Amino acid sequence: MAQRGGQQQEIYCAVSNCHYYQSGHKCRAEKIMVCSDPIAHKMPDTMDATNSQQFPESPCNSCMETACKTFVAKEDPTRDGVNKL
Ligand code: SF4
Repeated sequence: MAQRGGQQQEIYCAVSNCHYYQSGHKCRAEKIMVCSDPIAHKMPDTMDATNSQQFPESPCNSCMETACKTFVAKEDPTRDGVNKL
């Protein structure tokens, strides 16, 4: 479960084919990186939560414009080249 300021943070996600997905719609990643869709398209898959400071600010107008950069398919969790936390 993710930590924020020493407090536990719960992240719920329904993307069931993600490597980090856990039954009950829970995300078991220690850190996730969320950005706008256009930035998610521009940045390579290797850019993730550990590189968060290298992401530009990317304001959005609705939730439909956001993307989880931490997603990686269950079938091939090495595909994004990120060391899994
Ligand atoms: S890493 Fe992102 S897509 Fe994957 S379960 Fe967590 S929140 Fe959902």
